[in-house]
Amino acid sequence: MCGIGLGPAATVLARPDGKVVTNAALHARCADLALATCPGLSAVLLRLAVTPDDLLADGRPLPDAPPALTWQTWRLHPQVLATAVGDAAAP
Ligand SMILES: [Zn+2]
Repeated sequence: MCGIGLGPAATVLARPDGKVVTNAALHARCADLALATCPGLSAVLLRLAVTPDDLLADGRPLPDAPPALTWQTWRLHPQVLATAVGDAAAP
C-alpha cells in the first residue's frame, strides 16, 4: 500500500474542486507513476505536495480529525486550493 513511511510531507492528487482523489497521501514517485499509467486518473488532476495542515478530513483539519474508522472525504484546504488553481476557482 502506498504511503508507508511517508514523512510530514506527501503528494496528493486532487480534482480542480479540491476533492482529494482516493483520500490518500502518496509518495511523489508513486503519484507520477499513477498519473502516467492509470486510465482512471485524469490529466486535469492537480498534483500537489502537501502536509497534513493542507488537508481537511470531512471538513475538519486533518491533524484534528478523529481516527478514520470509516471512509473520510479529504479536501484541499481552501487556501491551498486557491494557491494551486488561482483565486477565481476557489470556493
Ligand atoms: Zn508510494
